[in-house]
Amino acid sequence: MLLTRSIRRKMVAGLGVLLLMLGLLAIGSISGLSNYKRTVKDLELIEAAPRNSRLIGAVVKLIDPLHLEKFINDRPESTHEELYKWQRKEAEQALHETREVIEEHKQQLDLHFEGLSGQRFAPDNLNAQRESYSRLRAHINDILAKYEWSLDALEDPDKHDATSDYILSLVTELPAAIEELEELEPLENMHPRLKAAQRDYRAHLVLVWSTSLLVLSMFLFLSISAYRGIVKPIRALHRGASRVASGDYDYRVKLNTHDEISHLAVAFNHMTERFQSVTADLDKEVKQQSQQLVHSAKLAGVGFLAAGVAHEINNPLHAISTAAEGVQMRLAGLLKDANESDAEIVREYLKMMQSEASRCRKITEKLLDFARSKETERNQYDVTAIVREVVAMLNHVGKFRDRTITFDENAPHYAYVNGSEIKQVALNIIANALDATKSGGEVTIDIHELPDAVELTCKDNGCGMTPEVLEHLFEPFYTTKDTGKGTGLGLSISHRIVRDHNGVLEASSDGPGQGSKFLIRLPKSPRQAKAA
Ligand code: ADP
Repeated sequence: MLLTRSIRRKMVAGLGVLLLMLGLLAIGSISGLSNYKRTVKDLELIEAAPRNSRLIGAVVKLIDPLHLEKFINDRPESTHEELYKWQRKEAEQALHETREVIEEHKQQLDLHFEGLSGQRFAPDNLNAQRESYSRLRAHINDILAKYEWSLDALEDPDKHDATSDYILSLVTELPAAIEELEELEPLENMHPRLKAAQRDYRAHLVLVWSTSLLVLSMFLFLSISAYRGIVKPIRALHRGASRVASGDYDYRVKLNTHDEISHLAVAFNHMTERFQSVTADLDKEVKQQSQQLVHSAKLAGVGFLAAGVAHEINNPLHAISTAAEGVQMRLAGLLKDANESDAEIVREYLKMMQSEASRCRKITEKLLDFARSKETERNQYDVTAIVREVVAMLNHVGKFRDRTITFDENAPHYAYVNGSEIKQVALNIIANALDATKSGGEVTIDIHELPDAVELTCKDNGCGMTPEVLEHLFEPFYTTKDTGKGTGLGLSISHRIVRDHNGVLEASSDGPGQGSKFLIRLPKSPRQAKAA
């Protein structure tokens, strides 16, 4: 039963065992009852057996009316004729009663023989006995007929005495004839019957005990199986549910009952695993969101400070640049008397002042751009077209000529954005990717459409990034490029733009030398832009 697979089959097997137990108990009880019934029947036969003594008693009663003295004593004043008449009446009455007894005896005999036939203890000479009794009955009836026939003569005073003697001789012969017959005495058979009943009793006692023991062991087996197969697994399941509910997500329910309960345990474990992974994902997401929040706060702080500084130094820079231009215009007159090498140095320094002042102004412009989180015009723009324009532009930049940009997308993908801002972002990311690759490097751009966003990826096989670079990537002024080559503002501005669009800008890399991947996700509609 323990090997059966489903609870339904286990229950069917359990019911089968229960039915077997009931069957065994029923067999024991029915066979005991039938044995008891047989013994009762035997006792009934003994009790109901007709007695020959009763027959003799009835026959002897026929003699009573023949004693004339009894009538004379009772009615001394009556005449002989009256006495004879009375005597005849009494004889008729006795005859009638005797016939009734004989009839009753016959019926008892019939029942007796009927009950005995087929019985274990029926005597062998049952038929012979039956015949002897019917012969005796015929003989008695014959004598009773003669008795009846002689009654007329009993009234006749002339024939009275002779008839009385005749009847007496007829009747007195009967008891002897009856006694000749073997008495139907079932008590003779009592001893073997008693022995057989004792044997039956012992056999049934053994039967009842063994069936009871068998039923008891079946019951124990059934109880243990039910405990192991149903109660224990359900307890294990309950324990597991309580442990998981109290926060122990590593707990797993182990069951090997191979039935619905173990299927339930597998499903429960699966659910716990899913729950565990969902919780871990949620934790990770919360961590990322918090990091992003901190990062955004940091960016906003730095942006605010940078914008302030930029604003403050913008005017002095303008003054330096204008002053340098003014000095340059007057330079020819001023350097008339100076020697050539000094004049050359002054010219060079002036140029440097102008170019560095202009570089500084570009930086301050960018900084102001970064801090200026303004509400710009948004519309449905084809991201494919924007990227295609940027790629075409970069293909013409001399220093990137020996790199390959792969962009095979032709289908339009519309996003709800500010076109020029997204162009700036795309330019930044693709230019950075080209910068990161050496001669012969490759940059691959893809666009995917999601249900509620357009996703742009830019992959390169360039220098890749360390976890440290990835951590500071979007911070203003963070750059790994040589001084003068990079400002470290491109990605922070791009990040701000994408965030203002309620989009996502993410970077990933498997490490130095493994290339990098940038992902930009932009909302498709104003509703999604707001919902994001
Ligand atoms: P800049 O390009 O002026 O340095 P950015 O903000 O655009 O400033 O970039 C910041 C830094 O991010 C870069 O100096 C570079 O180290 C890193 N970076 C950006 N894009 C990539 C890329 N595709 N591969 C490797 N490093 C990159």
